[in-house]
Amino acid sequence: MTLHRPIYLDHHATTPVDPRVLEVMLPYFTEEYGNPSSASHAFGWAAEAAVADARERLAAALGAADPNEITFTSGTTESDNMALLGVARSMRSRRDHIITSSIEHPAVLDVARVLEREGFSISLLPVDGDGLVDPDAVKAAIGDRTALVSVMTANSEIGVLQPVAEIGRICREREVLFHTDAAQAVGKVPVNVDDWGIDLLSFCAHKLYGPKGVGALYVRSRRPRTRLEPLMHGGGHEHGLRPGTVPVPLVVGFAKAVELCIDGLEAEARRMREMRDRLWDRLRAEVAGVHLNGHAVRRLPGNLNISFDGVEADPLLVALHGVALSTGSACSSASPEPSHVLRALQLPEERIRGALRVGIGRGNTLEEIDRVADQLIEQVAAARAARGGPRLRSHQ
Ligand SMILES: *Cc1c(COP(=O)(O)O)cnc(C)c1O
Repeated sequence: MTLHRPIYLDHHATTPVDPRVLEVMLPYFTEEYGNPSSASHAFGWAAEAAVADARERLAAALGAADPNEITFTSGTTESDNMALLGVARSMRSRRDHIITSSIEHPAVLDVARVLEREGFSISLLPVDGDGLVDPDAVKAAIGDRTALVSVMTANSEIGVLQPVAEIGRICREREVLFHTDAAQAVGKVPVNVDDWGIDLLSFCAHKLYGPKGVGALYVRSRRPRTRLEPLMHGGGHEHGLRPGTVPVPLVVGFAKAVELCIDGLEAEARRMREMRDRLWDRLRAEVAGVHLNGHAVRRLPGNLNISFDGVEADPLLVALHGVALSTGSACSSASPEPSHVLRALQLPEERIRGALRVGIGRGNTLEEIDRVADQLIEQVAAARAARGGPRLRSHQ
């Protein structure tokens, strides 16, 4: 790494491809380039075997009983769309109510809005000040016409881990399907679809050191058999759920990436927590008026979301030129709207405008964390001095 390259602390937005992942992908671009649907020759067979192998390994990683419960997609956004639209549209004559939370990714919230326009009623559950959904609120919201509950496993801004197992148990008791967006969770914390009563689960490769452009939707096939109306039509690939040629190099890389994460999960989580706690401990000790947004303990090991009293996030990010950080989700950073997640926590406006998201990942070191802490401490002091000084640079 060169001296001028910023330190990357935005691993919730995306992650680099692990070289070990790239290595297993490469032959599938140039040598084993067959179409897995070509059943009449060895090129097709080799590709199909690679896809079947990847499917098996991904199913095993989620604790799924049957590899055919994995459907490959282009990413979590597509998986979320497939899950919500697919379930809702297949049940609309009997059930027309969807329950989700106010802190979901836009890939769920925007789809819920589409379903609302199609005549579904949507219950948007609030979260508490720590960002947690109350399982009792899920229970209370379920009615006879509820088709689906969708609550994410881990939030991409505040890293908060929802009580997914409890929500799953409630859904199972009430015989309502349960979907979870686990894009930030798979490979970072243990995830098990059977133990947690999950019927549909969305995730993707690029959040866990795999390639961009590939994801999967887990769909439970038995007890209950989950029915989905496909979004696209044309070819019957992927159990008729998702037509189009499967991108073999991407799915091979996806499976390898997940496996590497799960093999090293405990040790890596410890390492992430050590770096995260070091950063937080130093900030707390050396800066006055620093706040942690989201639950202190129930969160992803590599996540911090912090605000400094009297300091706006955007100018602070500009001043921190040696660090790649963000204010919130990369997905909605095209819009200047303040974070809907922090809004849902009902934090004071100033704290929302000051929020920085820190996403620590595999490539980071304690030495980098110390450099980031030094820079943050220095720049927060500078921002406060500029604000409080005789010549205000502020445009207010
Ligand atoms: C990144 C992310 C998505 C979108 O995933 P893509 O694969 O980029 O479409 C959806 N949900 C969550 C929670 C995410 O973190």
